[in-house]
Amino acid sequence: MFRCINCGAMHHDFHYICPRCGSALLFIGDRLLWKPEGVGVWRYRSMLPVERRVTMYEGGTPLIRRRDVKDEVYLKVEGNNPTGSFKDRGTSVVLSHALRDGVRTVAVASTGNMGASVAAYCAYANLTARVFLPADVPDEKVAQIRAYGACLVRVEGGFQEAVRRMKEEADKGVYLATTGLNPYFLEGLKTVAYEIFEEMGVPDTIIVPTGTGGLLTAIHKGFEELRSLGVADGTPRMVAAQAAAAAPIVEAWRSHAPLRPPEEAESIASAILVKEPYNGLSAIAAMRSSGGLGVEVEDDELISAVRELGKEGVFAEPSAAASLAAYHKIERPPGRTVLIVTGSGLKDPLAALGRS
Ligand SMILES: [Zn+2]
Repeated sequence: MFRCINCGAMHHDFHYICPRCGSALLFIGDRLLWKPEGVGVWRYRSMLPVERRVTMYEGGTPLIRRRDVKDEVYLKVEGNNPTGSFKDRGTSVVLSHALRDGVRTVAVASTGNMGASVAAYCAYANLTARVFLPADVPDEKVAQIRAYGACLVRVEGGFQEAVRRMKEEADKGVYLATTGLNPYFLEGLKTVAYEIFEEMGVPDTIIVPTGTGGLLTAIHKGFEELRSLGVADGTPRMVAAQAAAAAPIVEAWRSHAPLRPPEEAESIASAILVKEPYNGLSAIAAMRSSGGLGVEVEDDELISAVRELGKEGVFAEPSAAASLAAYHKIERPPGRTVLIVTGSGLKDPLAALGRS
């Protein structure tokens, strides 16, 4: 079953978005079984909605305790995934679904990391990838996507325009893999929660760099599932860290007003620069139900956070350091905190040096 995050309608069959209102859908499993076996994302196959058809050993990323602070703070280093970001978890599940249906061509709109991930997995699975990218994606990410041999379409305008162009592909029988427009993607992402749980139980707080709201939604969903099965006895407080230049989720959480896209959005945090977050409503619901909050971070705070992580041996791209930057801005959370470090610094090395 699939549940709409906006109107709540339940749908039996797979759709990219809610046929009734056009919002994102969440997969609701009724045969979940907690039986971890093996490694990486597919260690949790009994909690996933599709059979494994393509994997490049995504997931199983390190959870490192910060050594230079007294508080219990852990880094979940997602840059260690095959293409350097957490997206590979979702891509493995989404493409496993696409292959089940005999798909040959996959389209994705992306701020860069998702495009690289889908391009790599398509190359490995012998599928054609069509990647729609906004004009301001860093050259390093473009180079990575090209290296995987994907068909690249540069789009004037931002991520929303790239999504609009990609949706036209659906009419041609092409499979759409974009975050927020494919509920299976979040099913892969939720394995972040399972890995954290297996290593440390339920932490008190998790801070997530947030663009579309998909990763935050998925981590919360993963913990909720463990709780519903009686495996975990609670869920962590979910904190969204957004770039101040584009923080519609944080603003809507704070004001209780509907999500409103910012007019202009410029920041070195290109990976989370999303004006219309497809999983915004579900992310805000997760923040509220878990007693969490939203934090905006400025570019200079991101650059400092990149340097601070570097001193501990972790190279993060500016967006990925948003979790640490946000940690410094909130009242010291009690107990144990996990900072999700979403992508490798090698994705966007010059911005990380403070030169955008
Ligand atoms: Zn709906």
